[in-house]
Amino acid sequence: MRNKPTQAVFKNTSHSPVKRSYKLNKQPVFVIVAFVVILSLLYAFSGPSEKENNPPVQIQNVDLNLPSAPLLSYIPEQIQDVETQWQYVTVKKGQTLSSIFDDIDLSQSLLYKIIHIDKEAKKLTKIFPGASIGFVKDEGGQFKQLKYKLSETQELFVKQEGEQLTSKVVELPLETTIHSAKGVISGSLFNAGKKAGLTDNMVMQLANIFAWDIDFILDIRSGDKFSLIYEKIEQDGEFIRDGKILAASFTNQGETFTAVAFDDGNGVSYYNPEGRNMKKAFLRAPLNFSYISSNFNPKRFHPVQKRVKPHRGIDYAAPRGTPIYAAGDGKVIRSAYSKYNGNHIFIKHPSGIVTKYLHLTKRYVKKGQRVKQGKTIGTLGSTGMATGPHLHYEFVLNGVHRNPRTVKLPKASPLKKSKMPEFKNYAEPILSQLDSLNFDAKHIAQTKIAKTKSS
Ligand SMILES: [Zn+2]
Repeated sequence: MRNKPTQAVFKNTSHSPVKRSYKLNKQPVFVIVAFVVILSLLYAFSGPSEKENNPPVQIQNVDLNLPSAPLLSYIPEQIQDVETQWQYVTVKKGQTLSSIFDDIDLSQSLLYKIIHIDKEAKKLTKIFPGASIGFVKDEGGQFKQLKYKLSETQELFVKQEGEQLTSKVVELPLETTIHSAKGVISGSLFNAGKKAGLTDNMVMQLANIFAWDIDFILDIRSGDKFSLIYEKIEQDGEFIRDGKILAASFTNQGETFTAVAFDDGNGVSYYNPEGRNMKKAFLRAPLNFSYISSNFNPKRFHPVQKRVKPHRGIDYAAPRGTPIYAAGDGKVIRSAYSKYNGNHIFIKHPSGIVTKYLHLTKRYVKKGQRVKQGKTIGTLGSTGMATGPHLHYEFVLNGVHRNPRTVKLPKASPLKKSKMPEFKNYAEPILSQLDSLNFDAKHIAQTKIAKTKSS
């Protein structure tokens, strides 16, 4: 789905506000390479990734030149009164609207009348645990008002006006604000993210962008750093959820990678400043693994058999049942069971590449089937000759086994030439914004050094 370009404003940055228009789009679904594992290893995260939906988003222009919010004392007394009259009930498990009305001394006949006002008010019968309902009563304890959030962007109001009960649905606009953050890793990426004010979800997004270039399990070092410009979806100044990353850079062991989100007409992807897609035609690892239990080694000396027995793939250890992804687009040329390989799948890709996946518990694809990069083709197991649950993964180029960890992966297609001027126009200001963040970081580091020296 494509949305109309909307306006947004830079906020919380040390730079003058720059109004720019950009496209809000559904987050591209990135295949997470070796990522859930970072979560489990470094952060013990277990929840599902945030559900992506695309509610109507209305952008408000935040004029930073205006004075800040009016002082509380300027708010007319009337409004303050209404504010304090709301009483909130949080729906508990097993609780019905009827029992809530009992609890707060409102009659069942009132409830009956309310849910029969119209079909919007009828939605009150579908309350769920955790939801909040606001009530206003007058001094005599009589019902005056009720409010209930029907969705992220709609709130239902029911009002008693004399004898009349009325209902009204109020639209609650969402606001997309733009923020910047940067951090240096000293412990884990997640800690550094937290220090920089990022949610775990945003840290994941950041890592997903660079997952084709950086192995976030094995290659992250103390001193690695990142900076990013990203969106937050807010309502009435309150954080609702993360938006997308507009631009980011990540320096890993001295090497810096930079990416900009850009919609080439087929949805948003991340590109480097030259317009090359950050994605590669192959995943570095076709699963989220815990650790490598056996590396690629063409000259491995077998300790038991006392002879050179090459290990022509990589063994990735992970819990049994871990999804295994197709490393790249291709066609399944084998999906079968054998005594040694157990359940195994071979995929043939363009440019003479074949990838092999061994010891699976389950196979989800058939011979002849076409698969896209990131499709779950089976689950990890220990079928065949395997001592424990792991994936034995092979990468074969023109008939020669290559190390999947180090082989130079083919690049995904770059931006079309015709899109380049638009891309450059879009990317330039946001990259210079990102650059100035990095400059600030350097500046701070230098100031620190200077201070240490002088003290
Ligand atoms: Zn192996």
